[in-house]
Amino acid sequence: MSTTRILVTGGAGFIGSHYVRTLLGPNGPPGVAVTVLDRLTHVGSLANLADVRRADGFGFVHGDICDADLVGRLAADHDQVVHFAAESQVGPVVSPDAFVRTNVLGTQALLAAALHHRLRTFVHISCDEVYGSIRAGSWAETDPVRPNSPYSASKAGADLIALSYHRTHGLDVRVTRCSNTYGPYQHPEKLVPLFITRLLQGRPLPLYGDGAHVRDWIHVDDHVRAIELVRAAGRPGEVYNIGAGNELSHRELTGLLLRECGADWGRVTFVEDRQGHDRRCSVDFTKIRAQLGYAPHKDLADGLAETVDWYRTHRSWWEPLLRRAGSGERVLLRS
Ligand code: NAD
Repeated sequence: MSTTRILVTGGAGFIGSHYVRTLLGPNGPPGVAVTVLDRLTHVGSLANLADVRRADGFGFVHGDICDADLVGRLAADHDQVVHFAAESQVGPVVSPDAFVRTNVLGTQALLAAALHHRLRTFVHISCDEVYGSIRAGSWAETDPVRPNSPYSASKAGADLIALSYHRTHGLDVRVTRCSNTYGPYQHPEKLVPLFITRLLQGRPLPLYGDGAHVRDWIHVDDHVRAIELVRAAGRPGEVYNIGAGNELSHRELTGLLLRECGADWGRVTFVEDRQGHDRRCSVDFTKIRAQLGYAPHKDLADGLAETVDWYRTHRSWWEPLLRRAGSGERVLLRS
């Protein structure tokens, strides 16, 4: 059997590393080799890939997706790209330049290399925030993108450029737009691990605004399984929404985490809302269910309990990240 060589960008981050562990794990597809290309920003870490570093077919390249020469050389040796790398830290200290550079220009560099070397498939990992906020109902793939923050605008820009490579050049581009993902190995600047690690440390939880912002929470196992369905069986030029049907306000989610950690609302401090914070995000994922047989498997209560347990038993993974981030007092969470 011939080997499919997959270039996974951002594979040292939260979802990318889970995808790589899944591909190269005992239940992964046969005949697959994986090269991770990652710049190892403060959220990326080789520790996330420790389980697969010695696996057959695994390779790692420390580099930047904006480096056109590097991505050109890598594209020449691969059949497919699964593109996770993104700048996703949201907060006052992050300039929109970083979003545009990595998310837009980096994606463009990868697409140009994929086209030049005629790669078979390019899976572009996007997010539900590109649609913007919705009061009631859920966005379908046919709805226009209406992003509200510089982060989501840069992701939307990258989506549209990726899809244009299909329409203009016939490159097999597939786009996924998933809801808020949680699970092990997520950097503690993001909402779920921020709250869990603070609860484990006996520190206060900063909750944005009135806590009424609503998100659909999906376990990383389900997100990654859906991405793999899209890579293996999706159609060129198509967008696939991915969700779990677990819509909760931040207040409700906080309540679940407090209960899981045996703490009460005295630990919560309401902080000023961040600008461009979508009130409610919701995607309709009927299409991927109907066309690719996707269904979320992980129950939210079980998934959160397992995630709390993972952070409880992996302090040696997250404590150094907090030390590296300084005091850890900055509120940078993206929900
Ligand atoms: P993450 O921040 O944990 O990982 C991003 C990875 O990309 C890191 O390893 C980082 O080092 C790497 N990276 C950043 N800039 C790079 C560059 N210029 N060149 C090479 N590598 C670079 O992110 P994540 O939460 O795993 O998200 C992965 C993808 O999934 C992103 O595209 C994100 O938009 C999308 N997504 C995330 C969520 C979520 O809730 N986390 C939901 C839907 C979609």
